[in-house]
Amino acid sequence: MKAAVFHAPGDVRIESVPEPGAPGPGELLIRVSRAALCGTDSAEWDHGPLLAQPPVVLGHEFTGTVIAAGPGAASFPPGTRVVSGAGISCGTCEWCTAGRTNLCAGYQTLGLHLDGGLAELVRSPASICQPVPDGLDDTSAVMAQPLAVAMHAARRGRVGPGRSCAVIGTGGIGAFIVAAAAALGASPLIAIDVADDRLATAAALGATRTANAGRDDAPGAVRAATGGQGAHVVIEASGAPDSPAAALAMVRRGGDVVIVGLQPHPAGLDLFSVSTREVDVHGTLAHVCGEDLAGAVALLASPVMAGPGLAAAVLGDVISLDDLVEGGLRPLAERKAHGKIVVDVAGSA
Ligand SMILES: [Zn+2]
Ligand SMILES: [Zn+2]
Repeated sequence: MKAAVFHAPGDVRIESVPEPGAPGPGELLIRVSRAALCGTDSAEWDHGPLLAQPPVVLGHEFTGTVIAAGPGAASFPPGTRVVSGAGISCGTCEWCTAGRTNLCAGYQTLGLHLDGGLAELVRSPASICQPVPDGLDDTSAVMAQPLAVAMHAARRGRVGPGRSCAVIGTGGIGAFIVAAAAALGASPLIAIDVADDRLATAAALGATRTANAGRDDAPGAVRAATGGQGAHVVIEASGAPDSPAAALAMVRRGGDVVIVGLQPHPAGLDLFSVSTREVDVHGTLAHVCGEDLAGAVALLASPVMAGPGLAAAVLGDVISLDDLVEGGLRPLAERKAHGKIVVDVAGSA
């Protein structure tokens, strides 16, 4: 079968590899229809391996149809359309037992540690898959995994009705966070970025106010939208070195700051302000399949988001598997990509 194999930095090849074979206990064999790319894929290609263990088939955001179910996976009979989560957890360690499967002691990620979904076929545990409702098309369904990551980040910050929220950095995962926060009832919802096109997308996804941090006084805009007190929740999704400090400056007393964007170097933060204003600073990692992925599929299928909603707002180019490097990984690594790049795997076989 055809697959995108990550061999080494700068070396991702579209090549023929053996098929994964019959699904084991609890596993599904999935024929992939669409996969999506994110910064993780381009970072591995550009300057990895960071988390990946090459050689490995890339792809941790994918949807397709079950063609065989292993023992114990009968709830997903052949023909079922599914989306898969990305992380595989052991189910028995301290963190899994507490429901925090994304922190599992033996966590492995499809497309980084195990062969992923940028291939005609992939094997995935049924326990991390969700069925796709009939009304949800493949291009929308493939957005479920990144939306689950966004839902998890929003939950970490206790986003909810009656709580204001600011999102810093609304490209990439940030756009999904805006959509998740809107769906979870955040109001007002302030989007902050340095690019007007990304702010326009954020507004389409439910941001009630936008601020261009390159031009406007973003903390001032947050204060103005929140009665002068700052936001209940500030989610930092840009990864820019100054943004965690900016997030702290935008949050109100007793509020929550969530750090989503990965900082390459230790960053200074005013811990006097954290202590004396009782600000909770949260990390966030990937998603918990059981709650976040199911929630993401439900949100994508809901009337608010169905049809041309979320997927249409964030969709960038749809490319073939053969065009993965030049049409996907390179523009992502060079920060020239606009919107979510989706790979038409089924159409590339
Ligand atoms: Zn991703
Ligand atoms: Zn575990």
